[in-house]
Amino acid sequence: MWWALLFILACVVPTEYHYGYSISYPEHVFVIGKPFKSADWETMPSIRVCKDTGISVRRINHATSFWRKLGYKFDHVSYDTSNMCAPARYGEIVISLPDGSFDNTKIASTRTYTRTSTGKIVKAIIFIMPKDARRLRVIEHEMGHAIGWKHYNKKFHIMHSNWIMGGYDDFGLENGD
Ligand SMILES: [Zn+2]
Repeated sequence: MWWALLFILACVVPTEYHYGYSISYPEHVFVIGKPFKSADWETMPSIRVCKDTGISVRRINHATSFWRKLGYKFDHVSYDTSNMCAPARYGEIVISLPDGSFDNTKIASTRTYTRTSTGKIVKAIIFIMPKDARRLRVIEHEMGHAIGWKHYNKKFHIMHSNWIMGGYDDFGLENGD
């Protein structure tokens, strides 16, 4: 059936990660062994920051250099100053204010879109409020999800699911590790 093939080729599924103050043990959390990446990107992602998130250039540079040091590459970083920040397009990581589905007890969440036919990430959205965007490590952590990393509950690790117990430990996150 040609239409079924078209559907499969076009099919992109979302995965969502939430960041909060309590330890969560959903299927996305790894505690032992090495951190686990659910998918790689189809392209080199560009980053678009919606201005109304209040994220400074310095903040975003800090977050991108954290991941660049680990061997990840990003295309250009841009600021979207429009009132209605456009949804993520193909090849983009967008950092935006939360949409209607956001859980207010959380600090931030990231949604990655994976193409089912290739298993590769094609776009990602990080949802965050300005008050939480100022917190240490949050953008770095969410960018980790946008890259494809799942939670990893080693104390002081950047991908720890509980913000309070996290840190800048980057064990196991090197590109191609
Ligand atoms: Zn998280």
